[in-house]
Amino acid sequence: INKIAVLTSGGDAPGMNPCIRAVVRTGIFHGLQVVGVKQGYQGLINNNMYDMNERSVSNILHLGGTILKTARCMEFKEESGLEKAYQNLKNRGIEGLIVIGGDGTFTGAERFSRIYDIPVIGIPGTIDNDLYGSDFTLGFDTATNTVVEALDKIRDTADAHDRLFFIEVMGRDSGCIALRAGVAGGAEAILLPEKETAIDELIENLKSGSNKKTSSIVIVAEGDKNGGAYDIAKKVKEHVPSYDVKVTILGHLQRGGSPSSFDRVLGSRLGYAAVNALLNGETRKMVGLKGNTIQLAELEEAISTHEFKLEPDLLDMVDILAI
Ligand code: ADP
Repeated sequence: INKIAVLTSGGDAPGMNPCIRAVVRTGIFHGLQVVGVKQGYQGLINNNMYDMNERSVSNILHLGGTILKTARCMEFKEESGLEKAYQNLKNRGIEGLIVIGGDGTFTGAERFSRIYDIPVIGIPGTIDNDLYGSDFTLGFDTATNTVVEALDKIRDTADAHDRLFFIEVMGRDSGCIALRAGVAGGAEAILLPEKETAIDELIENLKSGSNKKTSSIVIVAEGDKNGGAYDIAKKVKEHVPSYDVKVTILGHLQRGGSPSSFDRVLGSRLGYAAVNALLNGETRKMVGLKGNTIQLAELEEAISTHEFKLEPDLLDMVDILAI
């Protein structure tokens, strides 16, 4: 193959830029022409693409977001949208496509590559870490570090006022950020979608211990079954009116910021591996990190398999380390 395209799609994640850089430079090193597609699948349909060279990706390694922009694109879910995308790629002579994104992005890529003769490789880019076939996804480490930084700051003010803080973090289906950030930031309790925690159990936990703490932090992943942080805080306050309860929703700040060294290295490895996969004639695969090696998984498997990604020892130690 002589010409490939790269795009970022769905939710942005820190580490996408280092990954784009690796795709572009690895491609050019191997004599390929590399085209950057703007705004994900929308750019494929609107023919919003440009030729990139090794300097197009200078000085982006440390930047969050994505220089290619990202978008959600309903039209790509229609057959007519897929067809338009194919024609635009074909007209430009593009013979391979690399998509950086999450579950939805891979679903589109899988479908597209089943219908049309352009090989596609997926790179897992999502702060949620919720894809099968990669122990870590791009952006998860940076987002977790951002949450830990926020926890440390909230800890100061919580302690000064003897308060109980409920901090809501991202993760509609996945408690990965909540668990890791909670352990790193010393949370007293962590509420996750993967594990049910009854409110009275949570209250018992907060009250227990011979030396009762004066301030506490509880992390709530968005997808926890008890509702959002405000709902849970209200219920706890009803049971224990003496607690001085506050809520902080961290929201979109978790998506931004300079990628951590881990995400820069992971993005570089995955981008490099994706180009090599295309050169080796692979298609409909995802490149991922397993243990400390880069491996290929079927895109279909990455979408359809739901792996329990929470480390059992981390789950076990939360209460123990908070005594
Ligand atoms: P993420 O990739 O982060 O999970 P989305 O779920 O928004 O983000 O998916 C990104 C894009 O992938 C969607 O906007 C759409 O263009 C495309 N996509 C998602 N599901 C499908 C599908 N079933 N068929 C075709 N394209 C899809």
